[in-house]
Amino acid sequence: MTRHRKIEIWRWIPSPEACGPCESLRGDYNQCPSKPHPNCKCTCIKFDKQVNPRGKKSPYQTGFQMVSDAGYSGGMNTWKVAVTCMRYIGGGEDEEEPSDDSYEAGETYMGEIDIPSNNFDTSDPRYGEAEDRQEEILDRYARDLYENYCIGFA
Ligand SMILES: [Zn+2]
Repeated sequence: MTRHRKIEIWRWIPSPEACGPCESLRGDYNQCPSKPHPNCKCTCIKFDKQVNPRGKKSPYQTGFQMVSDAGYSGGMNTWKVAVTCMRYIGGGEDEEEPSDDSYEAGETYMGEIDIPSNNFDTSDPRYGEAEDRQEEILDRYARDLYENYCIGFA
């Protein structure tokens, strides 16, 4: 018995230099909206959205790796961020939340972000800040990747 529901969704993705009316169309639709003007470079893609029993978007997994270390110079550290979209495969209908067994790993997407390195210059107003906020910055970046790429993994 297949328990999960599949819904067909169209997602409007404005081009990077989209005008206001195009930008305001950003979102999901039952059918693709018509282009607001000639020469519109925006795209509309179709995907099957799988809905878990609670109708929530599926979770995601993250991986972080520092690939360049600026040391204590006060420069930038470069981090690689990987986000794996989890796909709902069924089960957990009677539970508060579907269990880990209800998901399998889907596509993984990678991104890179520069974060100010920590430094030992106590006169620098950013002293200590980078290390304190590093985790938060990485988590937020992973969240953005998730929002942008884990589509169709409801
Ligand atoms: Zn457009």
